[in-house]
Amino acid sequence: MNDQKEKIIIIGSGAAGLTAAIYAARANLNPIVIEGIQPGGQLTITTDVENYPGYAEVVQGPWMMEQMRAQAINVGARIVSDIIVGVDFSKNIKKLTCDSNKIFQADTVIVATGAQARWLGLESEKQYNGKGVSACATCDGFFYRGKEVAVIGGGNTAVEEALYLSNICSKVTLIHRRDQLRSEKILQDRLFKKGNIDVIWNNIVSEIKGDSNGVNAIEIQSTISNNKKLLNVDGVFIAIGHDPSTKAFKGSLQMDDEGYIVANNPGTCFTNVDGVFAAGDCVDKIYRQAVTAAGMGCMAALDAEKWLQN
Ligand code: NDP
Repeated sequence: MNDQKEKIIIIGSGAAGLTAAIYAARANLNPIVIEGIQPGGQLTITTDVENYPGYAEVVQGPWMMEQMRAQAINVGARIVSDIIVGVDFSKNIKKLTCDSNKIFQADTVIVATGAQARWLGLESEKQYNGKGVSACATCDGFFYRGKEVAVIGGGNTAVEEALYLSNICSKVTLIHRRDQLRSEKILQDRLFKKGNIDVIWNNIVSEIKGDSNGVNAIEIQSTISNNKKLLNVDGVFIAIGHDPSTKAFKGSLQMDDEGYIVANNPGTCFTNVDGVFAAGDCVDKIYRQAVTAAGMGCMAALDAEKWLQN
């Protein structure tokens, strides 16, 4: 056990966690950030960011997170590379158990653990994960240069991934389970203008096919006729949304049916536990933007600071 009690510990190092760290450090709270399983969060697996205010030109997600991390360190945040596996919020001093068995203690905790990509749940999807199945075009798109790929989903992520891959691959097929995309109109316009992107509507992926070299086709099934057909592709990118990363807090914090942490007082970052605050995609299933996550990180740090003063 680490005997030293901290004023504040921030769990998660995405836009919410690092912004909370910047504010907490500048309030002299000497924060520790536990980086978690994906340091930098979801923006480290995005490509172009053109909607985060302050950058006139497009910037890359991973670069932006490096900058945010450096900014947090520059103002005094301490970053620890570990994963929280258990918490005890039952007493005034909160205890956090890490994967390394280290235990941290703190007066206040900000949970900013974000969300993780969702999978289709097919056995073949697991079998070919990393061998043609991916949830990150930025990470893996390069391997499909000049090849044909499919992207599954109809939200912003799916459309952005399809657009990104269309600049690398010879052909991209977007497969969506309905006849209408959920993504922003501006992205849809770009998608429909691309010559090498096809959209297949009202279809789901029922099987991923391949051999020892990896994926070579997907079986798709119409949600209208139930008819199945094969589509030859070298890779398939799953982009069907996210689940909040809140398992470690089950039973300790109030959550909704989907596992999102519930704000105790809407419009603030208070949870149902005194001294524990939550921010970003582990709370927010509506906006889920880098800028809203950062905004919530700021709010959580200000809430925690005020709570400590009282
Ligand atoms: P979304 O939840 O917005 O979209 C998920 C998509 O996947 C939906 O079209 C959904 O279909 C489909 N889907 C879900 N489950 C399945 C399944 N089992 N089989 C087939 N299809 C499925 O997730 P995103 O990751 O796209 O976006 C998450 C949030 O992040 C959104 O708020 C988005 O706006 C934001 N975002 C913003 C970006 C930006 O501003 N640049 C970039 C990327 C994301 P259906 O439509 O039928 O529900």
